[in-house]
Amino acid sequence: MCLASRRSDGYHNKEWAAKMESLGLQPSSTGAVGGKRTGQRVSHYIIPDGPFTKAFANLAATGWKLNLQSAHRPGATKGPNSKTKFTCSSCSQNAWGKPDLAITCTLCRIEMKSDAVVGSYERDAA
Ligand SMILES: [Zn+2]
Repeated sequence: MCLASRRSDGYHNKEWAAKMESLGLQPSSTGAVGGKRTGQRVSHYIIPDGPFTKAFANLAATGWKLNLQSAHRPGATKGPNSKTKFTCSSCSQNAWGKPDLAITCTLCRIEMKSDAVVGSYERDAA
C-alpha cells in the first residue's frame, strides 16, 4: 500500500510512516515486528487493536464479507448454484447459497428460510 505522501522516487519517508501508523498499519521493511519504518522498500503489518483492526472488525460485524466469487465479472457465466436467497425472519439478514443449503442465523440462532426467489448479488449488494 502506498499513499499520497510517498515521494515519487519510491522513498517511504517518516511522513508516510506516520500516516500508515495512524491507520493502524505498522510500516516495516521486513513486514514484521522490528523492521525499519522508512526506506526504499517498506512493507507493513497490521497493528493489533489498531484503527485498521477495529475498522475491519466493525465491518465484519455488519455481516460484510469479501466474497470474490460473487463479484460481478462481465461476460462471466453464472452457474445454476449459489443463487437462492435465504433470509432470517428475525433480523432480516440475507445469505445466498445452493437451494438445499441448511443455514442458521448466528445472531438469532434460528433457521434462515429460502424465499425461493433467484437473487442478484448486484441488486442486493447495497
Ligand atoms: Zn437473525
